[in-house]
Amino acid sequence: MVETIQTKRDIRKLKLDELKEFFIQKGDKAFRAQQVYEWLWMKSAKNFDQMTNISLETREMLRQHFVINHIKVDTMQRSEDGTIKNAVTLHDGLVVESVLIPTEKRITACVSSQVGCSLACKFCATARLKRQRNLSPDEIYDQVAAIKEQAELFFGRPLTNIVFMGMGEPLLNYSNVTEAIEKITSQKGLNMASRRITVSTVGVAKMIRKMADDQVKFNLAVSLHSAINQTRSSIMPINDTNSLEELGEALVYWYQKTKSKVTYEYVVWKGINDTEEDARALLKFSKLVPSKVNLIEYNPIDDGDFQQAPEEVLNMYMDLLEKNGITTRIRKSRGKDIDAACGQLANKS
Ligand code: SAH
Repeated sequence: MVETIQTKRDIRKLKLDELKEFFIQKGDKAFRAQQVYEWLWMKSAKNFDQMTNISLETREMLRQHFVINHIKVDTMQRSEDGTIKNAVTLHDGLVVESVLIPTEKRITACVSSQVGCSLACKFCATARLKRQRNLSPDEIYDQVAAIKEQAELFFGRPLTNIVFMGMGEPLLNYSNVTEAIEKITSQKGLNMASRRITVSTVGVAKMIRKMADDQVKFNLAVSLHSAINQTRSSIMPINDTNSLEELGEALVYWYQKTKSKVTYEYVVWKGINDTEEDARALLKFSKLVPSKVNLIEYNPIDDGDFQQAPEEVLNMYMDLLEKNGITTRIRKSRGKDIDAACGQLANKS
């Protein structure tokens, strides 16, 4: 077993061309690579035995050279509201979580991009785990593929949306996240539409500019939570090095290049950002570029430092924003009973 891990290559690290090269060297046809590649990505094969249109001999030969480091979806918890939380074990034994969120019209996969997180947002459970490593493109892809299967199996409906709102900061693992998205949207992969994919970031200005330069086609969401520097810095340390001014400039650049609206995620907490001044600051910030605001419900994590503001405060925000032309939605949490809601991942593990 030890020998397997150390000497064999992960076959999914090979591009299609490299796989073709491999088969040609083995005296086989390039077409074989195409077939195997389809098994690896489109059909999400977990082992070589599943590749039934490949001869037994070839499968054995592949087994001698390669491994498939597929994720293992270990435990599956189901919430009263239908939400499913997956504990995903990676090939090196580390664990991340991913969530399937069903609504009337959609089935959304919420996936992780890193093991743990380095950002230390004070209200988030994942922040309590130190960042261990980035997920590879195939580990990200596998989470989506697994949820796609669950959607079909348990709900008889297709997966419609993907959000990078699980564990980790996607823009600090940018190249792997974009590589995964390329495969997810490819016809040789899961054939999903880019506009159904949202990457959520704490607001790394430099990387937002990079996304704009790359002309990415997926959606951008920013976890804002406050549009006042002092307040934002007190709950999100990233703001010390990425001020709201820098973030705002990066978002203007993003909009100029992509013409794509930005979504702000915003939790309102008692005593932190629950005044009219806070709401006015948000209004001003959200006017920088065309945007919409999701006021998300706070999901308590153990200690009670943070408390959701009452409905009147949410309505105050809502009225002010809507009156000024900013589309605003109040988002109820899903999967709270199984710690699958935003910011709760890793709460109990
Ligand atoms: N690092 C990325 C994605 C992961 S967090 C980001 O910061 O956007 C996904 C969303 O959940 C973010 O908007 C985050 O601010 C929010 N969140 C974190 N902890 C939360 C909590 N306890 N309750 C509600 N939302 C939370």
